[in-house]
Amino acid sequence: MRHIIWDWNGTLFDDLHLTVEAVNESLAKFNVPPIDSDRYRDHYTRPVALFYERLLDRDITVEEWRLIDTTFHDFYRLALPRAQLARDARSALESVRDRGWSQSILSMWWHEELVPFVTGYGLDPLMVRVDGNRGDAGETKRAHLERHLSDLGAAHDVILVVGDSLDDAQAAAEAGVPCVLYDGGAHHRSELEAAGVPVVDTLLAALDA
Ligand SMILES: [Mg+2]
Repeated sequence: MRHIIWDWNGTLFDDLHLTVEAVNESLAKFNVPPIDSDRYRDHYTRPVALFYERLLDRDITVEEWRLIDTTFHDFYRLALPRAQLARDARSALESVRDRGWSQSILSMWWHEELVPFVTGYGLDPLMVRVDGNRGDAGETKRAHLERHLSDLGAAHDVILVVGDSLDDAQAAAEAGVPCVLYDGGAHHRSELEAAGVPVVDTLLAALDA
């Protein structure tokens, strides 16, 4: 069965504004002035610790990284009601179902928080798997995608990964799976285009890319 793997944050879930605010909450712990979404796009990368090293313009210690990560997630959790699904997320997921394809979510957000959230939106019946991060904070997606693919098994012929970050494209390339990048705002458009995969403005368009 043809299968689509969706990213969550910045792709199905439109939360870039909260992410930038949460980053600023972390930066405030270091007396670093807040950034805007454009500056976020200038510096965003994975592993996320490297992103903060760019913003602080120095190396960070393991303890500092823990403080950053905890601060980020504490803020993000409280701010969550101020974000929602991407405009055409529901139509895109229903379109996959109506095509007779299967689909799943693979996110780097904490697994225990992701699953109830996806369920809360009523999306779980559309998914054969929902996998979040059960590993360390701020990893790259590559190992997670490999595990997700192996858990999906051979019955699902993965034809596409849809994500919003260069990390999604890199993970897909390393796993040998096609990828489309959705311009959800985390990177400059030119950077997405330089990744060498199709770039789309809507999730529905990703299905036909
Ligand atoms: Mg994302």
